Amino acid sequence: MPITASAVTHWADDPWTRGSWSLIGRHGTPADRVTLGTPIRDRIRLTGEATHPTRAGMTHGAHEQGIAAATWATHHGHRDVIVVGAGIAGLAAAQHLRTHGVTAHVLEARHRTGGRTTGTDVGGFTFDLGANWLQQYDHNPLARLAEQLALPVVPTRFASGHDELENELRRRLAAAPAHASVADVLAAWPDPPAALHRLVDTEIVMDTGADLHWLSARHGFEPGVGDGDRWIIGSYQPLVDHLADGLDIHLGTPVRTITDTPHGVTVDGRHTDAVIVTVPIGALPDLTFTPPLPAAHRTALARLGMGRVEKIILRATDRFWPHTPYFRIHGPTDRSISEWLDATDADGTPTLVGLLAGPWLDTLWTGTDHDITTRVLTDVLHAAA
Ligand SMILES: Cc1cc2nc3c(=O)[nH]c(=O)nc-3n(C[C@H](O)[C@H](O)[C@H](O)COP(=O)(O)OP(=O)(O)OC[C@H]3O[C@@H](n4cnc5c(N)ncnc54)[C@H](O)[C@@H]3O)c2cc1C
Repeated sequence: MPITASAVTHWADDPWTRGSWSLIGRHGTPADRVTLGTPIRDRIRLTGEATHPTRAGMTHGAHEQGIAAATWATHHGHRDVIVVGAGIAGLAAAQHLRTHGVTAHVLEARHRTGGRTTGTDVGGFTFDLGANWLQQYDHNPLARLAEQLALPVVPTRFASGHDELENELRRRLAAAPAHASVADVLAAWPDPPAALHRLVDTEIVMDTGADLHWLSARHGFEPGVGDGDRWIIGSYQPLVDHLADGLDIHLGTPVRTITDTPHGVTVDGRHTDAVIVTVPIGALPDLTFTPPLPAAHRTALARLGMGRVEKIILRATDRFWPHTPYFRIHGPTDRSISEWLDATDADGTPTLVGLLAGPWLDTLWTGTDHDITTRVLTDVLHAAA
């Protein structure tokens, strides 16, 4: 398996996200996402993908929430606003403020824009180490922007092949008692069919990267994946660059403190009328709010959490994998799953893009990136070779 270039992600250890995307735990509901995004004393608003009740965990949900927060700020007459975070939500918010004549300053911890999207050169072609699909394509404003920018996209359709069983699984999850976890529902299923565990790994573990004892049965299986998705050949970078155009962005500027005052807000000593915070919920506990976040926001936050899905991109001299656009490899134990997309068409170089989730990340994702790549080749992909 001669590999010529590779890239490995570390979203779970990344201090500016601590996980891949937000999820609803067994004590939560989508209403917690709404509560989290409710403005605080007309001066502070948390936003980003985690605050969207129906499009969470996706770039266009982040985009919509960014614009909603900016609309709130303009309606309150704020003239100078600090936006914390230069991911899709923060850039969309700042761009909306700018076009409505409000001065917006974006403070970003990393030395780059894009947050959980990041175009990265892997062996001569730019791939994204974060988001790569435009989901719910027909109803996705970022898809319209991608069309405007003439980004090449390909439709992908990854059916589970177990439609009836999937419908039954969804029915049981939806009918579960409040506070039941996905694991509770599976444990209560009499004589579960043999295909059930693999279906759960494919449809729930892969889409969430969650511990199923924690994940809400009723609300953990949120809409998104599989609804007319299209994969961007390349990365989100052109979209991010377009959203960032003309903005006042301060990179390498992590925010630590947000203090509400009688006449505005102070963000690490900078005074402003209002602040829009797009920090992912995994990294939010590192921010100190004075006074503390209201109890309702803290409760909502405690009911949400981050999943873990990691990505690997492999460039090779030969296609050593099955000649199919897409395949899955299940891990040695239940709840471990990987999905592989053949991205050779990107530039003609044999390329695999893999997403991995579940407990086997604990053993696969240790040591250097070279160690991880070697382990993925020998312990995961040998099955496909
Ligand atoms: C591996 C992976 C694959 C994904 N695939 C898809 C996909 O195919 N399609 C899709 O729609 N979505 C996908 N997602 C989810 C998508 O990337 C996110 O939902 C979306 O990018 C979130 O945007 P955001 O602006 O809310 O948050 P972020 O992009 O996380 O932006 C928040 C910003 O805040 C910054 N920040 C954090 N703390 C501080 C601080 N203290 N001070 C200043 N700045 C701070 C961060 O550095 C970051 O830039 C994927 C995510 C991952 C990780």
